[in-house]
Amino acid sequence: MPKGVLLVGPPGTGKTLLARAMAGEAGVPFFSITGSEFVEMFVGVGAARVRDLFEQARAAAPCIIFIDELDALGRARGVGPLSGGHDEKEQTLNQLLAEMDGFDTSAGVVILAATNRPEILDPALLRAGRFDRQVLVDRPDRKGRADVLRVHLKKVQLGRDVDTDAVAALTPGFAGADLANLVNEAALLATRRGADAVAMADFTAAVERIVAGLERHQRVLGDKERRTVAVHEMGHALVAMTLPGTDPVHKISIIPRGIGALGYTLQRPSEDRYLASESELRNRLAVLMAGRAAEALVLGEVSTGAADDLVKATDIAHDMVARYGMSREVGQVVYDRQQQRFLNLPEGMALERGLSDDTSHRIDMAVRALVDEAFARASALLAERRALLQEGADKLLAQETLTEADLLPLAEAARRKPAV
Ligand code: ZN
Repeated sequence: MPKGVLLVGPPGTGKTLLARAMAGEAGVPFFSITGSEFVEMFVGVGAARVRDLFEQARAAAPCIIFIDELDALGRARGVGPLSGGHDEKEQTLNQLLAEMDGFDTSAGVVILAATNRPEILDPALLRAGRFDRQVLVDRPDRKGRADVLRVHLKKVQLGRDVDTDAVAALTPGFAGADLANLVNEAALLATRRGADAVAMADFTAAVERIVAGLERHQRVLGDKERRTVAVHEMGHALVAMTLPGTDPVHKISIIPRGIGALGYTLQRPSEDRYLASESELRNRLAVLMAGRAAEALVLGEVSTGAADDLVKATDIAHDMVARYGMSREVGQVVYDRQQQRFLNLPEGMALERGLSDDTSHRIDMAVRALVDEAFARASALLAERRALLQEGADKLLAQETLTEADLLPLAEAARRKPAV
């Protein structure tokens, strides 16, 4: 029997629920504690708590111990801005390691822990005989989301037009907790408009709220800014509608939302994706760079509006070069190992590889070449569709928001023009 099982996954995916359910199914006592509860101001208190917890558990065996937020107490020793003076945390972690080593599995105590940051855990925790089993608790896929939604939807009065599968299709990337929040948000919207049931429109509005932050009508843009944002967003949309294999454009808007985003183009993934081909990644890069390319083409200069796009594009390009081996100049060698530390690699192998100056220079150049190429491609695609870009931007300025149906004629015209 394994001694320690680590549940790894993003927040809100139900790791705690899963641990509870396991104890329930097994019909054994469940001792649950959060990592941050162990971290005390006074040296020795955390370690004493660990000792107490294991003593209690041994007396109640067979049982399950569950440590939530393991990273709060199991952070790698000797790293971080405040390391050095952290005797207390170190003592607590050492005590936990000692307790785990101190009993064998025949005692009937199974230790479960959960974390969403496995990469910062002390490697000693992941060694054989400790948390040597890792279970990935990922965000649900479309069918999983529909199942989760069905549970939460039981609590609200639904309108006839509500289609659970359609709501699931609108929410890729949502974890279980996000879906619960979505149902709640939709119910609030329905209540506010005095309806006695939650309609499909409440769900789409709630998705928009959660995805893009709250609508802020009070933030008024000047005419020139509005025009820049409209051209920028239409650039993204046109390139996305032109290139094959990119996600369909669901909606574009120049109503500012949240902090930072002046406009946005919502692309709805048509399916959950786990694999991307090189050409798809290149297309994604071109879509990201298209906002800025449109500004340069139509307005003659670029603005600060593309800052976020540049971050995303650089990240994708960097992954292509350093993680997926998609650059001929750099080769099929992986230079970015950060994410792989928790995947059961032996300790030595998991260490970050040192880069020579020459290699890091070549990586930088390859990343830059990918982004530059994407910008050039987006510019060429938009130059071919300049009239459509103008027409679309004017329409967007007038209506503020364009839906998939509004965009259909533009999309068809864009696809008839030559590809680049
Ligand atoms: Zn943009």
